Amino acid sequence: MTMQPTQVDAPVCTLGEGPVWDARDQSLYWVDIPEGRVHQIAADGSLSSWDTGQPVGTVVPRSSGGLVVAVQDGFMALDPASGALTTLAEVERDRPENRMNDGACDRAGRFYAGTMADDESPGAGALYRLDPDLSVTRLVTGVGTSNGIGWSPDERLMYYIDSQVNRVDVFDYDPATGQIEGRRPFAAVGKGDVVPDGLTVDADGGVWVAVWGGYAVLHHDSAGNVIETVDLPAAARVSSCVFGGPDLDRLYITTAAGPGESAGALFVCEPGVTGQPSHPFRG
Ligand code: CA
Repeated sequence: MTMQPTQVDAPVCTLGEGPVWDARDQSLYWVDIPEGRVHQIAADGSLSSWDTGQPVGTVVPRSSGGLVVAVQDGFMALDPASGALTTLAEVERDRPENRMNDGACDRAGRFYAGTMADDESPGAGALYRLDPDLSVTRLVTGVGTSNGIGWSPDERLMYYIDSQVNRVDVFDYDPATGQIEGRRPFAAVGKGDVVPDGLTVDADGGVWVAVWGGYAVLHHDSAGNVIETVDLPAAARVSSCVFGGPDLDRLYITTAAGPGESAGALFVCEPGVTGQPSHPFRG
C-alpha cells in the first residue's frame, strides 16, 4: 500500500525538522535548523514562529509550561509568550564545530538528543540525556549524525538512528531508570547519500522512518520489515515525522530544501493507524 501526503499551508523551511505534537493546546511545533526558527500551527490553524538565535535541532513541550529546544550550545527553555531563551544545560561547549540535532522525550519526561559535526565528520557526535533535574548524561559516543529517537509502546525498546551508518538501531530500554543497553541493528535503510533521518513509533509498535534523499517515509513493522511506503514525490529530503491531531491519526512530515517542487514544506497524511503521544520534558 502506498499513499501520497498533502502539503500543509505553513512556512517552507531550509531544513524543516523535529515535528512534535503538543496535546496541551493541540498544536504542532517543528524547527528550521539552520535558520534557528521554531514554528507552530495552533489548533485554529494560525501560525507562529520564534527565533532561537542559533541552529536548533529539535523542540519539545515542557510540562511546567513553554518549550525546550536543543540548540547549538545545549538545552534551552523557550518562553513562547516573550520569546525569551534560558539555558538549562550546556552540551559540548568545548566542540564549537558540533551542534545538537534530533531528539525526543520518553514517558517519564527525560529528553534524549544527540549531536553532530556541522561538516558531518564521522564519529564526532554523541547522544545525551537531559534529566528532569537538569543533569546531562552522555550515553553514546562515536556517533556520526545523531538523528531519530523513539520508544516501543511498552518502552522496553528505544530506536535510534545514526544516519551515517544507513541503519536504524534498537536498544533495550529500562523505563524506570532511562538506561539503554544491547544496541543492535533493527533495519537497514538507504544507501550512500540516501539515509534514515527522523522516526516515530506508532501505537502498534510500527516504526516510521523519514528517508533523507529518498522521497519517502518507510513504515516498518516491529520486526523491522517495510510494510508500507509514504511517497513524497515533491520533496527528496524527507527529514522527520510525528503523529498528531486530536486522535493522533495524522502523520506530519517535515522536509528540507533540495530536489522537488515543494522541498522544505510540511506535509500531512492519514495512514490509518494512530501514533503514541509526544511526551513533554518534565523538568
Ligand atoms: Ca534530522
